[in-house]
Amino acid sequence: MKEKLMEIPKIELHCHLDGSVRVETMYELLLEQGEINPMEMEQFEQMVRVKDDCKSLKEYLEKFKYPLKIMQRKEYLERITYELLEDLSLQNVKYVEIRFAPFLHMEEGLTFDEVVESVLRGMGKGQEEFGILSNVILICMRHEGVENSIEIVEQGEKYLGKGVVAVDLAGNEADFPPEIHQKAFQLAFEKGYNITVHAGETGIEENIVKSIELLHADRIGHGIAAIKDPDIMELIKDRGVSVEMCPISNLQTKAIKTIEEYPIRDFFDKGLNITVNTDNITVSNTSLQREYQLLMDKLGFSMDEIYTLIDNSIEAAFLSEEEKNRLRKIIIEELG
Ligand SMILES: [Zn+2]
Repeated sequence: MKEKLMEIPKIELHCHLDGSVRVETMYELLLEQGEINPMEMEQFEQMVRVKDDCKSLKEYLEKFKYPLKIMQRKEYLERITYELLEDLSLQNVKYVEIRFAPFLHMEEGLTFDEVVESVLRGMGKGQEEFGILSNVILICMRHEGVENSIEIVEQGEKYLGKGVVAVDLAGNEADFPPEIHQKAFQLAFEKGYNITVHAGETGIEENIVKSIELLHADRIGHGIAAIKDPDIMELIKDRGVSVEMCPISNLQTKAIKTIEEYPIRDFFDKGLNITVNTDNITVSNTSLQREYQLLMDKLGFSMDEIYTLIDNSIEAAFLSEEEKNRLRKIIIEELG
């Protein structure tokens, strides 16, 4: 089964670039910059990955300190993006939406355009060499305030249709509720961005409703708190909103205590458009096949249901109908 899950064509919709940097590259670049001393790779991995017994979201977020130190130069951003696409193509991922928060990469002098264009260059090269398709989602950080979000929406507009497909809102949900960023997301909606919002990851179900109704969310990141209220599940379904679920990450951050309480089976059986994703490949030490394996081992998902999840991801992708059909055709042909 492991091999089968490795081989099947896959789609990834929720993948943070800073959480998915190749470990060897991170080590090499941190060493080069004098940020770390030489050490065994095993020891380094403990600094940049969580274990499955990760204690809290705080412990999880601490791991992002290292990738962000090196993701401040054009050539590194390009290389990291390119390598991510290489790694994903080896796992037969056909399409990925890569997300990052531009301002987190502007701390040492890069401009917004330099950050975005470096990632787009890495994507172009990755597609050329590995045939993997990708697009970018620009993240607005909740704590940065609405003015920053508006700037992202305005500055990112020129890349719409050229690799950028959407905006996202991420970060501390409890202290910075969705409505703070309403003006920016209204603008994004008017400019034709697709919209996804991290909501209901840490138990606040009303953030899901606000994201759909006030921020025009087409997709919800995580969304696990919807399980608390049948009306919210109905809303998600009625509005045709897709949910980007990331099981292993949610287990590690303690958004859920055990996999048995993970609501994906309920969502799936109620007919919500559920997709499965990694969140952070390096930090979570995961992969799409590992996520699928967990669903099969612990939550009784069959291989056919895994195929349905992959088809759901095509449906939820920020692509045109024509592009979705092309992707579907590639996948169906490969699965025979
Ligand atoms: Zn996320």
